[in-house]
Amino acid sequence: MLKNYRNTATERFLRYVQIDTQSDPNSKTQPSTAKQQNLSKILVEELLEIGIEDAHLDEFGYVYATIPSNSTKDIPKICFCSHVDTSPDCTGENVKPIIHKNYQGQDLILPDDNTQIIQFSAHEDLASQIGNDLITASGTTLLGADNKAGLAEIMDAASHLINNPEIKHGTIKILFTPDEEIGRGTAAVDLKKLGADFGYTIDGETLGSLEDETFSADAVKISITGVSQHPGFAKGRMESALKIASEIVARLPKNTLSPESTEGIEGFIHPTNIAGMVEMATVEFIIRDFTVEKLHAHELVLSEIMNNVLRNYPNSKATFEVHEQYRNMKEVLDKFPHVTEFALEAIKRSGIEPNRRSIRGGTDGSRLSFMGLPCPNIFAGEHAFHGKHEWVSVQDMEKAVETIVNLCAVWEEMSV
Ligand SMILES: [Zn+2]
Repeated sequence: MLKNYRNTATERFLRYVQIDTQSDPNSKTQPSTAKQQNLSKILVEELLEIGIEDAHLDEFGYVYATIPSNSTKDIPKICFCSHVDTSPDCTGENVKPIIHKNYQGQDLILPDDNTQIIQFSAHEDLASQIGNDLITASGTTLLGADNKAGLAEIMDAASHLINNPEIKHGTIKILFTPDEEIGRGTAAVDLKKLGADFGYTIDGETLGSLEDETFSADAVKISITGVSQHPGFAKGRMESALKIASEIVARLPKNTLSPESTEGIEGFIHPTNIAGMVEMATVEFIIRDFTVEKLHAHELVLSEIMNNVLRNYPNSKATFEVHEQYRNMKEVLDKFPHVTEFALEAIKRSGIEPNRRSIRGGTDGSRLSFMGLPCPNIFAGEHAFHGKHEWVSVQDMEKAVETIVNLCAVWEEMSV
C-alpha cells in the first residue's frame, strides 16, 4: 500500500515545488519576480483554510499570519520563517518531483536527463536515509526543497497546532519571505507588524541540525589610479593600474585565508571581481570570518599587501573601501541563550540527537537577528540545494514538523 500523503507536509511540499518561484538578482522590483506571489497566494489560502484568520500577503510579497495563544501564561511571541523563492542558479520551471520509496543506498538516475545521477558516495547524508522515502526532481530542474521544505513543515505544524488544542502554546507568528536567495529576503519586512520577540528560520540542512552562528561579512573595494602613457613612449613613466591590481591578487595568501584552503571556523579573503584599464582598475573582495576582530585582521592583511605593492609604483594611488555586509548572529543570540536551548530541547523531544553548528555563509536569520528578531536556523531536511541533485526525505520533513510543534510547547512550559 502506498502511504497516503494527502495534507501532510509531503503533500504540501509536492504541490509547492511545482510552482516556479525563482528570484532574479537583476530585477529592481519588490518582490524581484511577480511569480513568487503565485505560491504566496496559495500559502495564504491554505492558512485561511487551516483557520488562521489574519493570514495575508502584503504589497511587498511577504506573508504574515498569527496562531493565537491558547495558554493563560505570559509567553514571548515566537515566529517561524521560511522563504518562497528558489535560487537563480538553476531553473525552477516545470519541476517534476519524484518520490523514491524505501531508499536502499543506490545511486539515483534522474529520468528526464540520465546523465544527472545522485551518487550515494557524493552525499554523505544519504547514508542515514536508508529505508526512507527520498524526493528529488527529475533531472532538468532544481527541486526547491530550499526552502519549500520549510514552508511545508511550518504549514503542517500550524495545522497540527490548530487541530490539537491540547498542545498549549503562546502566540505563534508565521512569516514567508520572498527573495532570500538574492540577499533581499528582509528588504521590506515589517518587524513591527510581525510583532514577534524571537524567531526561527526553518531553512537548515541535516536532520537535527541547529545553526546559531554565521559568518560575519564585509566587502572590500580597492580602486587603483595608475599612470597612463602611450605604450611606445612609456619607459620609466607608465604605471599600469591593471598590473598593480594583478599583483595584489597574486600576493594573496594561497594556503591559508582563501575559500579553497579553509573550512570549519577559518575565514578568508576572496577576490570576486577585477576590472580596469591602464589608468584605472578596481578589485573587489569579500572578507569572511566568525568574529569582527578576525574580519578586521584579514582586512589589515589585505591593505598591507596593497601598500607593499604600491611601493613599487610611486606615482600611483589606491583607495581601500570597506562595506559591512552582515554580522554573525551569535553576537545577538549570546544575549538570549534560551532561544537556542529551547530549540535544542525541542529537537531532543523529537527523538533526534541535536547537532549545533555554524554556517559558512549568511542567512536571513543573520539580518533578522540584527534587526531585532534573534533568529537561529533549524533543519528543514533540504540537501544539495541550488542544483539538479537536490533532495529531501519525507521522514526528515516529518521530524522537522514535530520539532516545530515541540518547540511551541517548550516555550509554553518554560514560561510563567
Ligand atoms: Zn534557503
